[in-house]
Amino acid sequence: MAKITLIRALEILDSRGNPTVRVQVGLEDGTLVSASVPSGASTGGNEAVELRDGEARFAGKGVRKAVVHVNDIIAPALQGQDPRRQAEIDSKLLELDGTPNKAKLGANAILGVSMAVARAAAQSSRLPLYAYLGGAGATRLPVPMMNIINGGKHAHNSVDFQEFMVMPIGAPSFSEALRYGAETFHALAKILGAKGHSISVGDEGGFAPNLESNEQACEVIVEAIRAAGYEPGRDISIALDPAASSFWVGDAYDLAKSGQGRKTADEMISLYQSWIDSYPIVSIEDGLDENDWAGFARQTASQGKRIQIVGDDIFVTNPIFIRRGIAEHTANAVLIKLNQIGTVTETMQAIQLCRETGWRYVISHRSGETEDAFLADFAVAMGGGQIKTGSACRSERIAKYNRLLEIEAELGDASVFKSPFA
Ligand code: PGA
Ligand code: ZN
Repeated sequence: MAKITLIRALEILDSRGNPTVRVQVGLEDGTLVSASVPSGASTGGNEAVELRDGEARFAGKGVRKAVVHVNDIIAPALQGQDPRRQAEIDSKLLELDGTPNKAKLGANAILGVSMAVARAAAQSSRLPLYAYLGGAGATRLPVPMMNIINGGKHAHNSVDFQEFMVMPIGAPSFSEALRYGAETFHALAKILGAKGHSISVGDEGGFAPNLESNEQACEVIVEAIRAAGYEPGRDISIALDPAASSFWVGDAYDLAKSGQGRKTADEMISLYQSWIDSYPIVSIEDGLDENDWAGFARQTASQGKRIQIVGDDIFVTNPIFIRRGIAEHTANAVLIKLNQIGTVTETMQAIQLCRETGWRYVISHRSGETEDAFLADFAVAMGGGQIKTGSACRSERIAKYNRLLEIEAELGDASVFKSPFA
């Protein structure tokens, strides 16, 4: 196997115009690939550390320190290594860092290397990335959760909840699911326009209108699903990510953007119950604050049989928190984000825990993304059947969907598409 001969990082920009890390990895057989690291806005308190320079340039958001860590510390240590030894390389990265949360080298530095090494090994092995990471059985395409109304920290509007997503659960294939979602997105534009709302988009490509209430987002989405010619709940369902940590203020959930008042955890759970009864909702992520383990468990006990309860900020893709969640029945699914934990191997370990306990997992982008479509291959490799990668516009989102179309075409008759909610 060709050995690693080059590792080099570069400061690039993400989809919000903020700096992020790109890492190139070269092998002795001439393989040269790169990988780019995403960045969140509504980040969990326990995520691995995204190292930022804190200097005047880019208002403190520069990543030159992370770049130097890749070039001066990681690169010399990994010279001559076999890139197929992913777990060994990732544990070497953890050792070089030496902190529990990757605070020394930066999770952005570490993840860029980890992803680029995987891609180099795949290319040098002449395998597509999904097959290299997932093996010959990696044939399942994910159902997309398409975030068509953005609120919370992802948009300057009157909507408190961060994400209102459509999930084409009744589509026969990934490409048809994507078409269902895109058609609904365009139908929604017409409906919002006719109601006099703005159709400018938020960070993940969903519309960011000033609606009268949070529930109006569900109403217009159901209207859009019908207008596009689909049956709500049969062809297309709704998934929510309120990202409740972002409006947990002091001792209450403060629905300040919409002016709908302050609520307790149990009032939020009742609110979700009434929505589940009124709209075709199949999944709620981060319905409560990341520290409200007891509230999550109460919501799961009362609604977890009916819908998917996903933990994002509360688990931060970290096996330690996922293990606690399994013990305490905190949720029944985990949102998986590579940069919350910081290496490919640890991300796979988090997924393995979900599999062992029968929990679902959703492979996810961040609100700050790049044109790198690593996530698409990763979702097929992991086979969980769900991906969250934004709306039907903005090329950093579409890059992932287009890569999934390629993978579907490449797999041909072998490709599998089945709803996790069938
Ligand atoms: P983030 O949002 O990337 O801004 O953290 C995504 C999410 O909450 O799922
Ligand atoms: Zn989330």
